[in-house]
Amino acid sequence: MGVAGACLFGSLPARATARLQTWEFDPDQNRLLFTTESEVQPQVSLLTHPRRLVIDLPGILSDASLGDRFIGGAVTAVRVTQVDAATTRMVLELSPDYDLDPRQVKVWGLTNQQWVVQLPGATPTSVSDGDLQVLDFSKAAPRPLVNVSDRTLPPLISRNQVTPAAVRATATVLRGVQVTNEGFFIPTAGAAPQVQVYRTRDGNQMRQLVIDLLDAAIAPGLTAEALPPGRYGIQRWSVTQFATAPPAIRVTLTLDHHSPDWQITPLASGGIWVIPIGVAPSQIAAPPTTVVLPVVNSPPPPMNRPVAPPVSSTPGVAQVPRREQVLVMLDPGHGGRDPGAIGIGGLQEKEVVLAVAHHTAAVLRAQGIAVQMTRQIDQTVDLQPRADMATAAGATVFVSIHANAVNMQRPEVNGLETYYYSEAGRVLATALQNQVLSTMVMNDRGVRQARFLVLRRTAMPAALIEIGFVTGAIDAPKLRDPRWQAQMGQAIAQGILNYLSGRP
Ligand SMILES: [Zn+2]
Repeated sequence: MGVAGACLFGSLPARATARLQTWEFDPDQNRLLFTTESEVQPQVSLLTHPRRLVIDLPGILSDASLGDRFIGGAVTAVRVTQVDAATTRMVLELSPDYDLDPRQVKVWGLTNQQWVVQLPGATPTSVSDGDLQVLDFSKAAPRPLVNVSDRTLPPLISRNQVTPAAVRATATVLRGVQVTNEGFFIPTAGAAPQVQVYRTRDGNQMRQLVIDLLDAAIAPGLTAEALPPGRYGIQRWSVTQFATAPPAIRVTLTLDHHSPDWQITPLASGGIWVIPIGVAPSQIAAPPTTVVLPVVNSPPPPMNRPVAPPVSSTPGVAQVPRREQVLVMLDPGHGGRDPGAIGIGGLQEKEVVLAVAHHTAAVLRAQGIAVQMTRQIDQTVDLQPRADMATAAGATVFVSIHANAVNMQRPEVNGLETYYYSEAGRVLATALQNQVLSTMVMNDRGVRQARFLVLRRTAMPAALIEIGFVTGAIDAPKLRDPRWQAQMGQAIAQGILNYLSGRP
């Protein structure tokens, strides 16, 4: 026996013969990252005697060269084996004194080919750099860079990274990355850089900007410490040497939630400008100090709190179901170290949405509806715990409140948007959008489907309302007005009541 934990995922039927391309375990983050040549649905389970986390990859073969590594710390070793003709197994051996709660293991796909397994309770380990593994594409049958598909994201990294490799002399040499008043400048020596740029955005809205330099090499001595710390909405830089023919460098910028898009301009005289499009660098919000990691593909728990039919009515107030069974989870976006969008006059999304949510909660409570909030004060809460709170509380509905933003040069963009993911969420989102538009004078930007994490990871009907643009010339003054905030809070509450009464 020995299977102690729940199987966290079902598996797809094994297919064909794609390979495990790379894997990396980061002991600082307690995180495994791996990449496969084709889509895979990992199957994760916890085994005992000895305790180990097993990740099966149906339909994936592994190379002997990707084999076992000693890690140390909470995870003492990672072994990669071929359990049958069509399944690769990755085994994380756990330290006896590491008390792993299987419910805390998070597994998510950056794409269907790149997965992260996050173990809880990352304990600081005294791992020397020599024990850290670095992704090395040169050992893993690199594909020509020009064939990188739009869907392929570079690996998620937790910090700036330079990954050199020995290559022959090249036409262009990358010498570093500099922060300037205009953005960034990548100085090069030798021939003018030949650049290919990819913009990637996966279902979790994780954005990366990838700059491939062809026939190029990293200057000797360039280290991760020489790369810019989180500036201008770029969380991390990764510079990787590929031993392709000709050699190439991939520079990967991981963009934070509020980063604008970037224009990449190689200069004939050498160097590459990286300039934000449509916004001055000084206007780009400082990145949050925590990286909110997207989570996908975990099956939602069964919904076991159906909305009861309406029973009572009060004149002038929407009918609601049996109130003792109803619980509304309100989710004011962002908070604490994460200000959310920052708009005209420094208006912060986190402050506006918290104020509005408190008004919504007060109105609902006055109607006898139980309300909980994912945060009641200015505090940092990651996305997954917000969804977890709703599930643990058995919430009837989940309503996330955010404010929108585009860049500062677009003050004409204003209005209300409400998002849903599931069909049940669509009905709730429509109820909110209709009610707010009926009482507030706002531009209708529609009800839309989106893969926001808090919508996907909540089993109950869930909606995310964007109550206006902090960058909008019309919306921003309203958003900062306490009376308007109260009206918006009331309108959202009425929209929730309408939904609960079955008449959105
Ligand atoms: Zn937001």
